[in-house]
Parts: sequence; C-alpha cells; structure tokens
Amino acid sequence: MTKKRIFVIHTGGTISMEEDKQSGVVKPSYENPLHSFHHLLSETTDIFSAAPFHLPSPHITPKEMLGLKQLLEETYNNEPFDGAVITHGTDTLEETAYFLDLTLELDVPVVVTGAMRSNNEIGSDGLYNFISAVRVASCDEAKGKGVLVVLNDEIHSADNATKTHTSNISTFHSPQYGPLGIITKKKIIFQREPIHQAKLPVTAVDKQVALIKAYAGMDSSLLTFLANTHYDGVVIEALGQGNLPPAALPAVKELIDKDIPVVLVSRCFNGIVQDTYEYEGGGRQLKELGVIFSNGLNGQKARLKLLIALSSPDTGDKMENIFNQ
Ligand code: ASP
Repeated sequence: MTKKRIFVIHTGGTISMEEDKQSGVVKPSYENPLHSFHHLLSETTDIFSAAPFHLPSPHITPKEMLGLKQLLEETYNNEPFDGAVITHGTDTLEETAYFLDLTLELDVPVVVTGAMRSNNEIGSDGLYNFISAVRVASCDEAKGKGVLVVLNDEIHSADNATKTHTSNISTFHSPQYGPLGIITKKKIIFQREPIHQAKLPVTAVDKQVALIKAYAGMDSSLLTFLANTHYDGVVIEALGQGNLPPAALPAVKELIDKDIPVVLVSRCFNGIVQDTYEYEGGGRQLKELGVIFSNGLNGQKARLKLLIALSSPDTGDKMENIFNQ
C-alpha cells in the first residue's frame, strides 16, 4: 500500500494546550504535544507539518484564515499532498473551516479538527480526533466533499457544522441535516453528499461586517450606530422565519439607503429565512426594503460570506445570488 502524504497545519487551541494540575486552568503548552504522536500514523501516512501561528481560536481573525488558504495552496503547488489536516481551537473552528470551504481551490481532502479537553486531562480527545482527522484526510471518498470538520467520530460539512456545547466532547453538530458520515474503528463511512457551492475569490479581508442578534423589543439604536460608522455590511440574526421588531426598521432602511448590505439569517438553529409574513417588520416588508435573505447559514458563517463577497472585485449585483447558494 502506498503511503498517503498528509500536510498537517497546527494553529493552536485546546488540542495543543495543557491543564495546570494545581490551578486547573488550561493554557498553551510550550511544545505542541501532537508532534510527538506523528509516528503513530507512520505505517499508513507520511506526515509533514507547519505551525504558522499558535493561537487560542478566539484570537484568530479572517487574516489568519486567509493565511491558511494561501499556505495550503502554495504548499500544494510546491510539494503536492494527498490530504491536509488543520488542528484548531474549537471556539471559532467552524468559521475557519467555512472560510476555507468558500475560498480554497484544492482538489484534495482538507479536514479541520480540535479538542474539548487538553492534552493531559482525563478523557482527552485531542490525539483521538487528530488520528481520526488524518484517517479522513487519507481517505479517497473524502475527496470532492469540500472542507470537512472531524471530531468525536463524526464527519461534518463546513457549512453545517457548529459548536453546540461549551464543554461536552460531542459539541459539533450539523443542525437539520446531521453529519456527512461517521468514523468507526475500521472504516470511514459517508452517508450523504454535500451540496457543492461556487468558490468565491479572495485576496484581502479588510472589510468590516457586523453581526447583530434580534430580540423582543429591539429598537434602531445599534443598527443606526452601524450605519454611521465604518461598517461595510451587517448580518442580522432575525426572529423566526425572518422578522424584526418594527422599531428596528428605520435603521434597516438607513443602512440600505447608504448601500450597506443587510443580510438576514434566523436566530433559530433549524430552517431558513423567507419573506412569509406581511406585517410591520415581517419578512415580506424586509425583502421589499432590499434585505438579502440567506439560505440556512448561521450568523457567524453568513458574516464571513458577506465579508468575502464584499472584498471580491466582481460581486457587484450578485450578492443576492451568492446568498441563495
Ligand atoms: N477556547 C479554546 C479555543 O478555541 C477551546 C478549544 O480549543 O476547544 O482555542
């Protein structure tokens, strides 16, 4: 059997941290503990690695995400690999995975993984998830399925996976659709195919996009503030099928009048936003105002999509189509 050549990028997160046994706090460790386990995979894979930065994932910004895309593509052009694994903190893992899914021009499996318990904690899931991720990245069926998120014996698509629990190791789920596949002791089993989406070109990520959650009694103040500062776009996690309190409408109108796109997602975990309701603040009215309805993404992913689309030179009037995909 020829060995698969796997490129591993370590970026930080709990998977590379240790617990202080005295205080119980978890912090970055000097030496990434996963490095010493690459040999466990040496029978089937030939691993080479890079660590472009070492950050807890709340420190990661779209600039690091763009850096990862460029590192993957440049490395592939210089020394082609069969698959790639990125280890990452779980707090923003879904955002990095989705950013790469939207922008990466690579024809090999790319898998993002992390851990909920640090390296020296009882029941640590880091090494197990890392080995699972390398197995998936080495698997021929993982090709052409977009960027994948692998933790806790499950394979998720980057556009659906989301962190649902603050501490449980079974934190990543794909609401509404379920995982793409599972990992067993002997097999990698895919149960469904993800929908392919068009790639968005990206060379810079310097636009400012805000994410605001709607709530009962919301008024226009926060949105008006955004309309009058340096924001280039706004994503609103709306109520239910895509409705807002009437008092928020004047600011939505102000944003659109200033050519600042407003994208609507739902604060519900399942379902999509639609222009169903015809009352003050209802979806029908928002659509007529020019609000863009997103097709099932959560707020943090719609925010990244809008950021990338705004940075792209040829988005123009295609914004609505981009969020329909
Ligand atoms: N706070 C950590 C991080 O995202 C959590 C983790 O890695 O699981 O870096």
